[in-house]
Amino acid sequence: MEMSIENENKRLRAIVQQLLDRIEENQRIQEHFHQFEFKLLSATGLQDLLHLLLDDACRHFRLASSSVFLLDEDGSLEGLITSLGIDHYQSRLQLRSSPEFYEKIYTGEPRVTLQEVDVLTSTRLFPGAPNVGSAALLPLIRQHRLVGSLHLASSEATRFTPDKSADFLSHLSSLIVMCLQNSISWERLELQGQLDTLTGVGNRRYFDRAMEQELDRANRNHGHLSCLFIDADHFKHINDTFGHMAGDLCLQFLAKRIGQQLRKTDILCRYGGEEFIVLMPGTESKQAILIAERIRHAVAQESLTMGEQTIPLTVSAGVSTWKARKTKQVLTPEELSENGKALVERADKAMYAAKQNGRNCVAVEK
Ligand code: GH3
Ligand code: MG
Ligand code: MG
Repeated sequence: MEMSIENENKRLRAIVQQLLDRIEENQRIQEHFHQFEFKLLSATGLQDLLHLLLDDACRHFRLASSSVFLLDEDGSLEGLITSLGIDHYQSRLQLRSSPEFYEKIYTGEPRVTLQEVDVLTSTRLFPGAPNVGSAALLPLIRQHRLVGSLHLASSEATRFTPDKSADFLSHLSSLIVMCLQNSISWERLELQGQLDTLTGVGNRRYFDRAMEQELDRANRNHGHLSCLFIDADHFKHINDTFGHMAGDLCLQFLAKRIGQQLRKTDILCRYGGEEFIVLMPGTESKQAILIAERIRHAVAQESLTMGEQTIPLTVSAGVSTWKARKTKQVLTPEELSENGKALVERADKAMYAAKQNGRNCVAVEK
């Protein structure tokens, strides 16, 4: 009897140990994935990102090869990649004009697939890779649409097998789609001259387009659109005291601080010299005032230093809000343009009132 309890204990201890080992192994893998995800989030631009996926990833995850296929129905991505001088990584970066390209990669609905790989598939998915044993295929899906596919190859046939968990890879693929789409959008804007080169946020040209689009959208959704006009205080004095270079640094700092207080759907642009403007879709006046106050506080509370000098940077902000009328359905392009101008003017006027109130404060339209 005693003997069997002892055996039972031994058996249980072995099971617990196995579980602990598995947890430890999982934590190790998770940490490894986190490191790569951090790199993805720090990538600056499309070139950097593709380099991570097609080069760094192989070292990081000990892969034999990797490849990315991206959907490019209108050929515009090809144009972008060419004009940025991005390498095709010996055909491991491929653009496909038809969304059906995945039919040759996935059987049925595209989802993360771990499988052994035959020579034919290997040649198709991993051109130039000498010996691929197994592969992980990650569909890149954005808003229920397949926009690409990432493939990771191992020389070992037992590395990517269907019985293994695909959780980490699924998570990774959603992050990759987000990063890719983001950097593609920004590269496009930059190419079209819609980015401010000093601060990296949208410029006036970008803003004018965004304003009409957002007003149109707010009108169709019967919603609100709030606008913040943010102007750096005594900026001439900052330039005169600390130099133009310090002034430029302040503007970069401002763009960053403002951006950190916003949601993904908010739009931040540099309107002019030391003036920034924010559009906040679906945001009522009350909420917009809170966010403006948060921005003002974030800027004022962190002092900027240049060598031994501390630069006293503050902003004044004006808030205005546009609300869709209940009756009117469609706004003509002229009306969109007029409404947009008026919204900015009201925010600008409120900003001026904030200056009158002593600066480093927020005012709302009358
Ligand atoms: P206020 O608090 O009333 O806004 O005073 P201010 O000095 O900020 O306003 P003003 O309009 O008199 O001066 C704006 C200054 O911003 C003048 C200009 O030299 C500076 N500025 C505009 N664009 C840039 C830029 O790109 N870099 C730098 N360093 N300074 C800029
Ligand atoms: Mg100004
Ligand atoms: Mg100013």
